[in-house]
Amino acid sequence: MPHSAADLAVVGAGPAGLAAAVTAADLGLSVALVDAGARPGGQYYRHPAPELHATRRDMTPHHHDWRAFTSRERRLRAHEAARRITYLPGHHVWTVVPEGAGWALHTRTEEDTDPTGAPTTAPTTVTARAVLLATGAYERHLPFPGWTLPGVVGAGGAQAMLKGGLVLPGRRTVVAGSGPLLLAVAASLAAAGARVPAVVEAAAYGGYARSAGTLLRNPAKLAEGARFGAALARHPVRLLTRHAVVEAHGTDRVEAVTVARLDRDWRPVPGSGRRIPCDSLAVGHGLVPELSLATALGCATRVAADGTVALDLTEDQRTSVPGIWSAGETGGIGGAQLALVEGDLAARSIAGALGADSAADQGARLRRRRDRLRAFADAMGAAHRPGDGWRDWLRDDTEVCRCEEVPAGRIREAVDELGARDARTVKLLTRAGMGWCQGRMCGPAVAALCGAGPAPDRRPLAYPVPLRRLAELPPATD
Ligand SMILES: Cc1cc2nc3c(=O)[nH]c(=O)nc-3n(C[C@H](O)[C@H](O)[C@H](O)COP(=O)(O)OP(=O)(O)OC[C@H]3O[C@@H](n4cnc5c(N)ncnc54)[C@H](O)[C@@H]3O)c2cc1C
Repeated sequence: MPHSAADLAVVGAGPAGLAAAVTAADLGLSVALVDAGARPGGQYYRHPAPELHATRRDMTPHHHDWRAFTSRERRLRAHEAARRITYLPGHHVWTVVPEGAGWALHTRTEEDTDPTGAPTTAPTTVTARAVLLATGAYERHLPFPGWTLPGVVGAGGAQAMLKGGLVLPGRRTVVAGSGPLLLAVAASLAAAGARVPAVVEAAAYGGYARSAGTLLRNPAKLAEGARFGAALARHPVRLLTRHAVVEAHGTDRVEAVTVARLDRDWRPVPGSGRRIPCDSLAVGHGLVPELSLATALGCATRVAADGTVALDLTEDQRTSVPGIWSAGETGGIGGAQLALVEGDLAARSIAGALGADSAADQGARLRRRRDRLRAFADAMGAAHRPGDGWRDWLRDDTEVCRCEEVPAGRIREAVDELGARDARTVKLLTRAGMGWCQGRMCGPAVAALCGAGPAPDRRPLAYPVPLRRLAELPPATD
């Protein structure tokens, strides 16, 4: 099996992992940068498919802060040419295990098996003295009647369709859910020619007032919000706060949505529903840190201000497991700028720990910037944290786990009649969370329905692998 050895293995080439890899290489470490994606940049710096031959002009309305990416990509290519960075795109790390004084990362590629299941290209194993987990996040979905209709896409998913495929989810798209991403998505859709009849935000922006000082200390972030507001003002877009889409209607695809006013706890106000015709709905309730590798390693977690489970990190981005660092959304949802700063900071901390020059003077400046941006992210997270009342818009026949087709009524039955008190027991009784996505889609909703607080996912493998790959692992040593 191909093998690559480095001082530092970085998992994820999004803003955090990319920044960390190039800074660590600048500081003299050998680095393996392993990423499931085909190109560096992660979710934020998402590239159009090469077959589209997109120009920078095609990308401008949806891609921001592109120079921060290109400068780092140039450094990546220079380090690759000088063999200081081994970059492995299209490699999914499915487990990280201790090996000697360091770690072994086992990967698989899409070409790992052909359609008959026979092995084709062998995946690479990476060994390293230290590991940085920069695996990012995925969208948080709260179900509602009709959410599985064609034409209903994630808010981040709509942005990914635009950035990666230069396509719109429809011609008339309602944008709904909660969080700062909604304004960015609505602005991108409108700029690309879609009609956006409404942005439906479940929280009230008045919640920001509680953190006025933190917001004022981040003028660049406030200006970003104002830019999206100004972009939307050029189009006939209605902004409805303290409202939610409580049902999507249609037969073959979504044709309209019902929007209702919410009370402070996100409970729909009876009689307040009205229909908005549309051919697509982009809906998301924030993001959830992707912690599969981290929790399998036993890294400690905390509940973040937005109600998600994030890694509990030290001042210099260390996890609770010696030799494992983390940066970006794994430590709490916070945006691309924060991810870049945390990546730089983690690289300096790792370089110091491995005996390289860590440029400690810059560390203090980066820490101050990180703390300021993290405080801003926490303020946003608290303002958009879902209230418990959203469960009232579920009917008993609303599908909650779409992989295993488990409706809300079966989950309520498991809780009320069979005594389930946590998502794991609900899974055993109903199969909710047992399907292909392994609960990534329905996990937050199932946990809320059984009254359990947010809990870290525990999956022994971060990605499905053929049994023979498990059989190839060397026996564990303690
Ligand atoms: C769908 C979506 C759309 C978004 N759109 C916007 C937007 O329009 N505007 C905005 O400001 N923010 C957006 N965000 C948020 C923004 O992308 C993040 O704030 C930022 O990218 C965080 O950087 P990161 O490096 O922490 O993670 P990411 O950019 O998510 O990068 C993580 C990388 O890790 C890789 N990875 C994960 N697990 C493994 C593994 N086991 N093995 C190998 N590789 C792995 C992923 O493939 C990915 O390349 C979006 C997020 C999502 C999920």
